[in-house]
Amino acid sequence: MARYCDSVCRLCRRENQKLFLKGDRCFTEKCAFERRGYPPGQHGQGRIKFSEYGLQLREKQKLKRMYGLLEGQFRKTFEEAERTKGVTGTNFLVLLERRLDNVAFRSGFGSSRSESRQIVRHGLITINGKRVNIPSYLVQKGDVIELTEKSRSHLRVQASLESTKRREIPQWIELDAGAFRTTVRDLPSRDDVTAQVEERLVVELYSK
Ligand code: SF4
Repeated sequence: MARYCDSVCRLCRRENQKLFLKGDRCFTEKCAFERRGYPPGQHGQGRIKFSEYGLQLREKQKLKRMYGLLEGQFRKTFEEAERTKGVTGTNFLVLLERRLDNVAFRSGFGSSRSESRQIVRHGLITINGKRVNIPSYLVQKGDVIELTEKSRSHLRVQASLESTKRREIPQWIELDAGAFRTTVRDLPSRDDVTAQVEERLVVELYSK
């Protein structure tokens, strides 16, 4: 499977926005975007004028990188959003937000989405008491997501849960950090996606 192996901080600089890909470091002054908030490369500090297509492409790349998906998975999610009743852009964001790896990240079980995905893949998460190791699993209203007994003593998990004090826990989930448990109160709405993203541009790009 294809993997991105270069520095993830370059991606934030490229998209001109903090994408929070490096866990706790993103909240410190060591953040590369805080220190060099311009695109990487020789011409990074020059003026860049995007065409309409360029703007759409950048927005798509930003969203894809934020959720750590590859093009195929990302496109498949978009197609599902198109098939769902309602506004495609909003459906798309909601589907991304409902992914199990994202919920694990939002709950602080992992310090970044990639770490949370690893936690899910390693079978350290249960939903309603059953082990689920599929990062793309879509959570439902009322689902109870828990860390397994074995994973609770992991130092990284504990450090990540500790760091939730610095992060905002969305309203649509309810975290009980002491019990290593999150409950899905309700499905997320567009307002619950706080990242600065213009999903309209992604819809326009994929609708060409
Ligand atoms: Fe992005 Fe985090 Fe790196 Fe900052 S530290 S540039 S937010 S990945």
